[in-house]
Amino acid sequence: MKFNTKTIHGGQSLDTSFNAVMPPIYQTSTYAQSSPGKHKGFEYSRTHNPTRTALQNSFASLENANYGVAFASGLAAIDAIIKLLKPGDEVISTNDLYGGTYRLFTKIFSVYGIKFHFIGMHDLNSIEKLINKNTRLIWAETPTNPMLNICDISALSCISKKHKILLAVDNTFATPYLQRPLDLGADIVVHSATKYLGGHSDVVLGAIMLNDSELADRLYFIQNASGAICGPQDSFLVLRGIKTLHVRMQRHCDNTKEIAEFLNSHKKVEHVYWPGFNFHLNHEIATKQMDDYGGMLSFKLKSNDIKDTFKVLEKLKIFTLAESLGGVESLSGHPASMTHASIPKAEREKSGLSDSLIRLSIGIEDSEDLIQDLIQAIS
Ligand SMILES: *Cc1c(COP(=O)(O)O)cnc(C)c1O
Repeated sequence: MKFNTKTIHGGQSLDTSFNAVMPPIYQTSTYAQSSPGKHKGFEYSRTHNPTRTALQNSFASLENANYGVAFASGLAAIDAIIKLLKPGDEVISTNDLYGGTYRLFTKIFSVYGIKFHFIGMHDLNSIEKLINKNTRLIWAETPTNPMLNICDISALSCISKKHKILLAVDNTFATPYLQRPLDLGADIVVHSATKYLGGHSDVVLGAIMLNDSELADRLYFIQNASGAICGPQDSFLVLRGIKTLHVRMQRHCDNTKEIAEFLNSHKKVEHVYWPGFNFHLNHEIATKQMDDYGGMLSFKLKSNDIKDTFKVLEKLKIFTLAESLGGVESLSGHPASMTHASIPKAEREKSGLSDSLIRLSIGIEDSEDLIQDLIQAIS
């Protein structure tokens, strides 16, 4: 089955009760048993729920994975992955990552004795130098949020396989429409399905996709034992969102290309971060591992005065100033004070995330309207 068919049919089957074409929302916490232990595979909805199972099967199908695991949020999914580790274990993570992931690693799991190293992932030698007998996991995000840096997934997987450690990739920005990390050698893929998979800014949900059955069993155990599950209504919303993922993503990519080129030629703009430019530091790797360049970009004005940055954000009309990304509507953001405020300023600036950076999540509106909005806001 090709990707554009999988978004609609992947892992799905007709509901057995009434042949409903769409998966029903099984809004129930529990299931009747005819005799103790005798049931149809469903006992309690923290453990299993048919709507969630349909979503998990869709997740697996999208990333060419054997298993999908759904959680209450992207961070709950990441939390479950780190719970595969134990005190004393070490993780090597990209230093340019989602602020909430950084906060989870440094403020929650560090306290439980897991050690995190944050480095720029473009330098493969520096990764190998950090590997020791306690290293269990490499954590990559590509493209990164908000600098749109690219990690070479195949190269990282060579390192992880050589040292027998796991490679996890946060594929939220690219989505499986553009990039399939498991096919490139990663062990675990994670998504904030809140973003492109859901696609309509109406649900918070997380996903893990993987091939290894033993790891999958441990993650299903954590899902049930820790209990950060998503409800049936939210599962349904993401299933519905996924059905148009391929159509939305292509329009996100096309609009973003036009807007990146417009901003790059604007006299008040200093720099545009978008992996589709041939002057982007990792353009070649992006071209090799992605099918297009995605719906996100960041840019800096020539002015270093933060007031000018804020003025642009205040003047935008179609772009809504808001946290999050990946919905049908265009959003603007100020990472230093919003999504990435939990990363200390010194650490932020190491990865180039200055106070004057603006991040745009380009929606699927008419690109002319979006460009006109930017013209009036930057003028
Ligand atoms: C939003 C986001 C997350 C966290 O997901 P939630 O659904 O908000 O918990 C993780 N990684 C990336 C890249 C994100 O953009």
